[in-house]
Amino acid sequence: MDGVTLAGRVAFVTGGGRGVGRACALELARRGAAVAVAARTEEQVEAVAREIERLGGRAMGCVCDVTVRAEVTDAVARARDRLGPVTVLVAAAGFAHSAPFHEITEEDWERHLRTNTTGAFYAIQATLPDMLRAGWGRIVAIASVAAKAASRYIAAYTTSKHALLGLIRSVALEYAERGITANAVCPGYLDTDMTAQNIARMSARTGRPPEEIRRILEGLSPQKRLFTVEEVSHLVAFLCTDAARGINGQGIMLDGGMVLS
Ligand code: NDP
Repeated sequence: MDGVTLAGRVAFVTGGGRGVGRACALELARRGAAVAVAARTEEQVEAVAREIERLGGRAMGCVCDVTVRAEVTDAVARARDRLGPVTVLVAAAGFAHSAPFHEITEEDWERHLRTNTTGAFYAIQATLPDMLRAGWGRIVAIASVAAKAASRYIAAYTTSKHALLGLIRSVALEYAERGITANAVCPGYLDTDMTAQNIARMSARTGRPPEEIRRILEGLSPQKRLFTVEEVSHLVAFLCTDAARGINGQGIMLDGGMVLS
């Protein structure tokens, strides 16, 4: 291995059907990894897998709901059977829904925690045995600026992402001597479906036009812009290389300087 290639590695990417996860799946494949693309929508995970195959890579779609442990375990087993031991995990599956704190329903609260935090916990536990056997592994969770800073109207999301960063830091320490690293990437607002849906919801709630809401979100970063999924996927792919072996337990901000910590 030359330090930056992922040739010979097998990656499992949750949330790989679209947005950030899709970009990560494609970038890992470009760097030589075989990729299991996981999410609930079969059409989307299969489309990304076919896209990787067209690029000359090895891939498969893995339909699974990250909130159901058995589905995650089965999906990782299918990936292992078909592609080989899974030693790279990118946990990108996520859910976000804004609401004033007093209007958060129990169902909404639970869905944030189950998807954003427990889903990553299940995926890490399902892939760790292969990493431990290999004496090498890379875990990257897509957290958010909300993992380190609070904002109004996203209390459930913020709680789930703070907890996700705590999970990553804990795993990083426990397996530091086993060739495994665990890190989180913490982006600011990205130009994806998730943000488009949030803009539509905020627009409906406030009566302000979507373009105005978008400008407000852009203004949150000192760079006055939304971030691209490719900016995230390049950082994620680097964290999965041998060259990044010293980076462990970090929550790396990708937000143009919005949260300085
Ligand atoms: P998208 O909504 O575009 O994609 C989310 C992905 O997660 C989809 O593939 C979706 O597929 C999958 N997913 C959602 N719920 C589940 C579930 N229960 N089981 C399996 N897969 C699931 O979101 P983004 O790409 O924008 O976000 C990706 C990650 O980045 C999330 O963790 C998000 O919190 C984080 N993030 C996003 C930011 C943004 O501004 N968009 C900013 C900072 C962080 P399906 O519905 O088919 O299951």
